[in-house]
Amino acid sequence: MGLIVQKYGGTSVGSVERIQAVAERIQATAQAGHAVIVVVSAMGKSTDSLVQLAHEISSNPSHREMDMLLSTGEQVTIALLSMALHERGQAAVSLTGAQVGIVTEAKHTRARILEIKTKRLERHLEEGKVIVVAGFQGTSRRNNSSDDVEITTLGRGGSDTSAVALAAAMQAECCEIYTDVPGILTSDPRLVSDAQLMAEITCDEMLELASLGASVLHPRAVEIARNYGITLVVRSSWTDQPGTRVTAPDPQPRALAGLEIANPVDAVEFDTDQAKVALLRVPDRPGVAAQIFGELADQALNVDLIIQSIHEGNSNDIAFTVRSSTLRQAESVAEHIAPALRSHPTATHEAEVQTASNVAKISIAGAGMIGRPGVAAGMFSALAAAGVNIQMISTSEVKVSCTVVAEDCDRAIATLCAYFEVTSSPARLDQRRTLPSPADLPSVRGAALDLKQAQLAIRYVPDKPGLAARIFQILAERGISVDMIIQSQRSRPHHGQMTRDIACTVSQDHADLAREVLQAAAAELGYGEVSVNGAIAKVSVVGVGMIHRPGIAAAMFKSLAKAGINIQMIATSEIKISCVVEQEQGVQALRVVHSAFDLAGVKTVEIPA
Ligand code: ADP
Ligand code: ASP
Ligand code: MG
Repeated sequence: MGLIVQKYGGTSVGSVERIQAVAERIQATAQAGHAVIVVVSAMGKSTDSLVQLAHEISSNPSHREMDMLLSTGEQVTIALLSMALHERGQAAVSLTGAQVGIVTEAKHTRARILEIKTKRLERHLEEGKVIVVAGFQGTSRRNNSSDDVEITTLGRGGSDTSAVALAAAMQAECCEIYTDVPGILTSDPRLVSDAQLMAEITCDEMLELASLGASVLHPRAVEIARNYGITLVVRSSWTDQPGTRVTAPDPQPRALAGLEIANPVDAVEFDTDQAKVALLRVPDRPGVAAQIFGELADQALNVDLIIQSIHEGNSNDIAFTVRSSTLRQAESVAEHIAPALRSHPTATHEAEVQTASNVAKISIAGAGMIGRPGVAAGMFSALAAAGVNIQMISTSEVKVSCTVVAEDCDRAIATLCAYFEVTSSPARLDQRRTLPSPADLPSVRGAALDLKQAQLAIRYVPDKPGLAARIFQILAERGISVDMIIQSQRSRPHHGQMTRDIACTVSQDHADLAREVLQAAAAELGYGEVSVNGAIAKVSVVGVGMIHRPGIAAAMFKSLAKAGINIQMIATSEIKISCVVEQEQGVQALRVVHSAFDLAGVKTVEIPA
């Protein structure tokens, strides 16, 4: 029988009794004839306590010292678990990341794994020992000097990533993630009491869910599982239930060297069968998006990208793309709704419909862009350098999509393939979209909430190619990752030139720094005020089948409207829809969306069949 990697999270090893229970399970696996490598987290909430201690001493502790401190948590667990195994008569040895030879980049507090040395692991397995490895940590060499070995950590929640990386390096049969819930549920059971367990979920869906706030798996762990075809299972360490299997397509063969730092972009995708409709100056009140997309869904019009930008005064811009052949129909729906929006008492300006045919959507996709600032900025600067003007931008953690005029499509693709060194042929999404949909693909598989983001708004950005690129480069240079980038559709004159607003979300920890560095560049780049709103929540739904079914976005917006929740920003990809709402309404928004899609077995809004 083959090798199994088992990872136990903090709660699963949170007490002496829990460590003993875990030891029993590990021994049973070994006695069934498997070789076993175990990865553990720090006990209970001890990493949080260490962070707290550090902040009592310093408001801005050095990242190197933070790694020295936080890596101790896991070292406690490996020793205790090893002792518990010895007590049961099971041969076992504990190893830190450094002792294994988990080599990472020299980036303290967020290092990516470069390589895992397998020699010592193989030797201990041959000796018949269970190996207990400290998760979340590795080592790097400072200045490439062989003497200056440094301890690094992979970022909070990183033990999942240690486990899957070990499974890849050791070619394990499977990697089991043991945690305090029965598996992956349709939403966080702490927030949504009727969340349901899923038997299976695809890696693509899990990547989105994990990066949109479902903390049950570290997104980088899912990325490695997908890239190396690791069988990944999430289960409870309290029961023998089978849990959730995260499924991956057969991977392309790839080297283990540079494990986590392969190309950030895996694929360039395009779709030339797109047309754009923009509704400018629609009132900023609950129900507007629901009304627009509800009417489109009633006419069975399938909407692809949707973006809604920051509002100025009390009006919003909403833009979306549809298949070219349905542009006229979509336009007439929009024209039909516009007067109703116009007459609303809160509308200060007239709503206006703009359309553009001959639009192409171009995307870069890849799990490698998670937490790696600069990928979106790289895309924007490469396009700007090639003279391609970007109309709409919509992002998720694993994809950035832009619309451009159709004539620029070939040039844009060639530029992006060269810039990101993508050698596979660009994927035609318009063809994929017309394929018959497998009947059993769920439109919405799960819902997630992220309460840790802040919204950054940059006003009056001159409407010139290359400015979005500069803005996101400035953030990337400071190590700030951005999510949900949205450029307003409306341009307006300011000091004699046409300008647009740009908004994005960044993690709350980075929000003040982001505002500072952008404000400092405002005079040079010619834009106006930069503001931060930390009181936001991002609620998202994910499902691989949504691309084939009209009405999913409408159903989400309708459920939020019904609950009186206003949507501040919208961004979509083929398999997810995210809305930014007021922070105080975040949990309620998650719950209404969860029940709207029948995720707990009770449907509250009509979703077209
Ligand atoms: P561990 O310490 O085992 O790594 P985590 O706290 O990191 O555990 O992750 C498990 C937690 O993830 C659960 O207790 C649950 O509250 C949360 N969670 C968020 N979204 C989901 C989801 N979709 N399915 C299951 N759990 C989720
Ligand atoms: N102990 C670390 C944390 O709490 C890593 C982990 O548990 O995955 O973030
Ligand atoms: Mg975790």
